[in-house]
Amino acid sequence: MTARILNGNAIRDQIYSEIHSQIQQLTAVGIWPGLATVLVGENPASKIYVNSKIAACEQLGLASSRFTPPSTVTTEELLELVCELNARDDVDGILVQLPLPPQVDSKKVLEAVDPAKDVDGFHPVSLGHLVSGRPGLVACTPLGVMEILRRSEVTLEGANAVVVGRSDIVGKPMALLLMHAHATVTICHSKTRDLAGVVRRGDIVVAAIGRAGMVLPDWIQPGATVIDVGTNRVTDAAEAERLFANFPERLAKFREKGSALVGDVHPDAVQVAGALTPVPGGVGPLTIAMLMSNTVKAARLRRMNSVMQPAAARKP
Ligand code: NDP
Repeated sequence: MTARILNGNAIRDQIYSEIHSQIQQLTAVGIWPGLATVLVGENPASKIYVNSKIAACEQLGLASSRFTPPSTVTTEELLELVCELNARDDVDGILVQLPLPPQVDSKKVLEAVDPAKDVDGFHPVSLGHLVSGRPGLVACTPLGVMEILRRSEVTLEGANAVVVGRSDIVGKPMALLLMHAHATVTICHSKTRDLAGVVRRGDIVVAAIGRAGMVLPDWIQPGATVIDVGTNRVTDAAEAERLFANFPERLAKFREKGSALVGDVHPDAVQVAGALTPVPGGVGPLTIAMLMSNTVKAARLRRMNSVMQPAAARKP
């Protein structure tokens, strides 16, 4: 058996065409949704992430503004910038790219973002809304996973879902979203006993660990849906051989480039799973798509009220 490949790029394209028409509806009433990105310092990976987010804004016709404080920035200076962005009416979403330099109190900065503009869904108010099942802005990666599951018609109600990883950004919100969709959810982490045995009980497995190819094929229940959130760059030749022994093309590419992007699930799991997200091209494209979607949603929620209010009811 070979798993059905859940193509994140195709799902992203569907979502983009929906977002595009939502943006047209907003611009028709004079609202041009805008995202502000804050990129501190020169971290090359962060630069790539922010550039691709800005490119997505441009592709969809969202306004974007970029702020690039130096790596010596203080917590206070960043708080001041976030405050300024909170106050700007043309900014609907604020994205502070992580990680921030060690001298900055990251939590304080993220908590300063107006929850109405918290398009990353990291603010405690956003998390609180998610816990209590109230509408709000939800972290992009888990939200993207839900879109993959929903649009691939994977049954969630009553399913055993196993989430490996309990970070605030992926694992925890993922588990909450699956629970709200009526799955029976188990959350695993580095202290979980018999991880393989627990994963094997999953009709749906979400791996968000950060360890290349850790989830082995014999951990997977035959026919399970496997969502691989991990993005790990492998540079070690022996590791590449362990992962790509059955994928000569990928091994050849690794040898040519000296590195490869690999998920947390061993690529051989494709022989056991019923459906699987590839890495790259699975969850990754959805993360940016959901950031775009959250920005449009934030614009609609925050600005539509004032547009819809009769003139007499508006404050002078
Ligand atoms: P974190 O490092 O914050 O969390 C990793 C989690 O995995 C922790 O809960 C940790 O457990 C658990 N873990 C680590 N080692 C083991 C182990 N041996 N057995 C069981 N559990 C383990 O990572 P993130 O949640 O931020 O990201 C996870 C992965 O997803 C990374 O590869 C990251 O690059 C990727 N990612 C991909 C995105 C995308 O768009 N595709 C977006 C965001 C992340 P404990 O809590 O006990 O330490």
